[in-house]
Amino acid sequence: MSADKKVVLVTGGTGLVGHAIQTIVQQEKRDDEEWIFVGSKDADLSDRDQTKALFNKYRPTHVVHLAAMVGGLFHNISHNLDFLRKNIHINDNVLQTSFEAGVVKVVSCLSTCIFPDKTTYPIDETMIHLGPPHPSNFGYSYAKRLIDVSNRAYHEQYGCLFTSVVPCNVFGPHDNFSMQSSHVIPALIRKLHDAIERGKLGSPEKTVFTVLGTGRPLRQFIYSLDLAKLFIWVLREYNSVDPIILSVDEKDEVSISTVAENIAQAFDFHGEIQYDSTQADGQFKKTASNAKLRSYMPDFQFTPFQQAVNDTVQWFKHNYNTARK
Ligand code: NAP
Ligand code: GDP
Repeated sequence: MSADKKVVLVTGGTGLVGHAIQTIVQQEKRDDEEWIFVGSKDADLSDRDQTKALFNKYRPTHVVHLAAMVGGLFHNISHNLDFLRKNIHINDNVLQTSFEAGVVKVVSCLSTCIFPDKTTYPIDETMIHLGPPHPSNFGYSYAKRLIDVSNRAYHEQYGCLFTSVVPCNVFGPHDNFSMQSSHVIPALIRKLHDAIERGKLGSPEKTVFTVLGTGRPLRQFIYSLDLAKLFIWVLREYNSVDPIILSVDEKDEVSISTVAENIAQAFDFHGEIQYDSTQADGQFKKTASNAKLRSYMPDFQFTPFQQAVNDTVQWFKHNYNTARK
């Protein structure tokens, strides 16, 4: 191995974002980087000894830290304590072991979900800690915010280059399509797919597409393969401890009802879309500014939303038997 070859360990490498980074890295085929993608079967990162053993095995020079307990609004509402504790343990183990192993750079993952609930818009990187998060996901939010606090402390005390990115809501191939724990796009894709299939089997019930909540909340969504390209750029080029938001532009924010219509279009479904307004809406919006990202990458082209939804639906149909559900 040449002296300056990077060995990049990707924790959470078996998930939605990890798979997308694998896809882009495989397309690039660079020989100055070796990439290693690991999941929870390789090591439970909430366990300190297993984390150390993993780092001893691979001896990374760089770490992309994706591993986390991740879920949509409804899973967060019912598991705030688990999200808090699991993620605090995973993050502390990964950052401290990276420090002890002399890792040159760590890029961890926050989320626009962790932003303050009561705030002005758009939210930028300087506002992450300026007020409590939405009560629906305070466990996940505080655990994630502590990554930024830790990064600053490792830098101040030891000069480490541990940084973080802040993606908006992510979707794409290899997402979690479980009805209990998934985010809105995979949940709605699974729901409509299964409703259409029941209809084909001759179910006497009319095929209705049920969306939870009012459909009015607004969200920014990024296609996982776009996020992967930006993540790799951060690993190679972005050398500040301060977080950087990786999101589509503010003008590309959409309502949940628009998302449902885009998914219906991808399935060529022309039946009824119903809104169950007895269910939670969560935070109304979390509009994030990507001005900092745009200052580095003014010309980055995000995949058009309908195209990314179509590709994800096609992937789900083709991989229905093996997809995470
Ligand atoms: P995901 O598909 O659910 O994947 C989670 C990954 O973490 C999997 O590889 C999983 O391994 C691993 N993992 C979970 N618990 C672990 C443990 N105890 N030890 C070791 N590995 C563990 O999640 P994702 O959507 O790709 O999320 C990746 C990162 O992006 C996370 O940090 C998340 O907070 C952040 N993020 C996600 C979104 C989104 O909308 N999805 C938005 C903003 C930020 P196995 O599958 O092998 O069990
Ligand atoms: P968030 O963006 O962090 O709030 O998480 P989600 O990706 O779970 O999106 C939640 C938003 O989608 C809320 O406004 C929900 O009311 C709405 N939504 C509509 N139907 C569903 C569904 O079946 N599952 C989920 N998770 N959210 C849904």
